[in-house]
Amino acid sequence: MENVKPTQFSVHLITDTIKSLYSGAIDLIYPPLCLICDERLEQAGLEICHSCLNNFKLIGTPHGQFSVSGDIHISTAWALFEYDESFQQLIHHLKYSRRRKPIGVVLNHYKSQILDQLPVNEIDLVISIPLHPRKFRERGYNQVDDMSRWLSGRLNAELGNHLVKRKKYTSSQTKLNAEERMENVRAAFGVTDASVLQGKHILLVDDVLTTGATSNALAGILKQSGAAKIDLITLSTPQFGNA
Ligand SMILES: [Zn+2]
Repeated sequence: MENVKPTQFSVHLITDTIKSLYSGAIDLIYPPLCLICDERLEQAGLEICHSCLNNFKLIGTPHGQFSVSGDIHISTAWALFEYDESFQQLIHHLKYSRRRKPIGVVLNHYKSQILDQLPVNEIDLVISIPLHPRKFRERGYNQVDDMSRWLSGRLNAELGNHLVKRKKYTSSQTKLNAEERMENVRAAFGVTDASVLQGKHILLVDDVLTTGATSNALAGILKQSGAAKIDLITLSTPQFGNA
């Protein structure tokens, strides 16, 4: 019996050594590289190097330029970062490379600056702009759900992604005029449980703010369904800087 313990101990030691040798070898063959600049990362799992992280341009002020026809249903809009070349790369990875981790790395890196801008403890519900189920299946996830989850935790607000849905697949709108486009996006969304929305202050979450037509359409529907106030936050916008 006395021999059992040391043997088990050695087996564990050997397995651990093999495991760490194996992951070391993987790192040697495929060293973890920065998603943006391809430089070798000082720390595996970081996804983006410090220099690239520090080079993202935080906009830092509430922003409310919408190019929509009709009523604006959004009270305040924040777009966090300039949509420059490196941020475009980041968004592309989020959408198409099935790499969701970088969004958390960026949000945590700029956590205090982001939270300084936002009304902590005033928002009731945080909701991602939903993808159509078909797009969701194609992509496997909604690229802004992790951001919504992050915000709901830090703002002390409930996550309400299940309260809205996308009914219509809006792939191409190029042949429509502005009004038809508006009608098209308005018909694209639905609410699953209006009773939860009554009198609520909601923060919508999207990746890029361009015209604001999509989020404004969803905001209109949420207000019709009883919500009191709708704000919007996006990761990025091309309306600032040189992008
Ligand atoms: Zn880098």
